[in-house]
Amino acid sequence: MMSYCGRFAPSPTGPLHFGSLVAAVGSCLEARHQGGTWRLRMEDVDLPRCQPGAADGILQTLTAFGFEWDGPVQDQSGRVDKFRAALESLRLQDRVFPCACTRRELADSQFSQLAGDGAKIYPGTCRQGLPAGKAARSWRLRVVDESIVFDDAVQGRVAQNLAHEAGDFVLLRADGFFAYQLAVVVDDAEQGITHVVRGADLLESTPRQIFLQRSLGLPTPQYAHLPVAVNAAGEKLSKQTCAAPLDNTRPQAALWDALAFLGQSPSAELRGAGLADIWQWAHAHWDMARVPRQQCLRVAE
Ligand code: GLU
Repeated sequence: MMSYCGRFAPSPTGPLHFGSLVAAVGSCLEARHQGGTWRLRMEDVDLPRCQPGAADGILQTLTAFGFEWDGPVQDQSGRVDKFRAALESLRLQDRVFPCACTRRELADSQFSQLAGDGAKIYPGTCRQGLPAGKAARSWRLRVVDESIVFDDAVQGRVAQNLAHEAGDFVLLRADGFFAYQLAVVVDDAEQGITHVVRGADLLESTPRQIFLQRSLGLPTPQYAHLPVAVNAAGEKLSKQTCAAPLDNTRPQAALWDALAFLGQSPSAELRGAGLADIWQWAHAHWDMARVPRQQCLRVAE
């Protein structure tokens, strides 16, 4: 049996907030519970969205909260050669194609349907070749008309037909940066990640990642998608919804709140305990089976 290797993979687009803490806590506790390793990867491949200083701020917050990861932090931005090699191998197999469509053209397209995440499904314009006189802007993966099915450790069985529900998706963006979907698949495989525990906002992406793994001949990790923390208006906690950054000087209450959010039922007295005691309790009591089988969960305010 392969030994368990989990990870936390924040994007340094701003400070960590409660929603990111939930993913860090869940992935870390499950990895330790399984006697495995837990790695940290800074997903800074989308440079235009990264904020200066955010990666250092995230490391400081994780340290203040008492997280201990295994091995060095891996920066995705230093691994562009690997992403290029993966794209090249897909190109040699004719699994990708250049696309000339602009965002505006796709948004205005009359023919495309909506994908699960609300974006329009690619209508296939450049699938059989670039239209005359048009230059390539991005590269897309050709998806197939079949269901990708996987068993999520929290959400249960998930099935998605990529052709109907996602469409041919971008691997190399028009601005020259590699897309998250390609980077995450290459990095999970390179880091030997066997189990991915992350927020259910990425559940929609997982079938695309599995298809990409299969296309590249890479193993598929096991997935567990934790409920995503939403505010009273039902919006995911994020920088866009002005979620408060975690307070490095008061980690205890937030850690307790994350455990409660994940269904672990810490006692009320534990909320006033020291950080080490809360972690000790969490390691002793962590049970993935108690995580609510919901994609969104409101945080107590
Ligand atoms: N970097 C992604 C984020 O911060 C997470 C990616 C993943 O866990 O696969 O939302």
